[in-house]
Amino acid sequence: MATATELVVEPLRPRRDLRDWDRLSAEIRRCRKCPLHRTRTQAVVYRGSLTPRLVFVGEAPGVEEDRAGVPFVGRSGRTLDAAIARLGLAPSDYGVLNVLKCHPPGNRFDRRAARTCRPYLDRQLAWLAPQVIVSLGSPALHALEPNAPPMLEAAGRPRTTARGPLFPLIHPAAALRSRRLARRWSADVRALRRWLIALRAQPV
Ligand code: SF4
Repeated sequence: MATATELVVEPLRPRRDLRDWDRLSAEIRRCRKCPLHRTRTQAVVYRGSLTPRLVFVGEAPGVEEDRAGVPFVGRSGRTLDAAIARLGLAPSDYGVLNVLKCHPPGNRFDRRAARTCRPYLDRQLAWLAPQVIVSLGSPALHALEPNAPPMLEAAGRPRTTARGPLFPLIHPAAALRSRRLARRWSADVRALRRWLIALRAQPV
């Protein structure tokens, strides 16, 4: 089995100032630009490496994430973490964030709020500069690539975007809903692993 550092090529990184990341994170935490700030416990910014090779992008914090202030810590987070272990990624290899930084009531993805929140996602990804983005679920996929086909058609296959390679997966919460989607999740995670290994084998 390939080790974590064998999976993804180290990207060329622009010089980055950690103070810019801290300023951006603080800005998100005190943001009141959309109505979701009224119902959140706290904004949920990011978890993971500040030099990630791969960033997972979900849609929005759930109830547990809202409480903890950390993305993907609930049941779907455990499913994601199990997949990350299967991919062989080390903590220094990856990060996890969401399109929306504040929990939407009823877990309903709020498209208007997502448009308002969008610059934060773009600034985070620009600063983190991962080589690969993995979207989790339809709202994240279509936020990153509006013209992508429907989720189940796109999942499990890499795509090329202006930002770089994007690999869509269904949302890990969906994998908890039915055996059929659990099998799909597992198959697509295996496909992601094969693709990451092939990416590593390409000449730089
Ligand atoms: S969801 Fe985004 S835009 Fe809305 S309050 Fe939270 S951080 Fe600000």
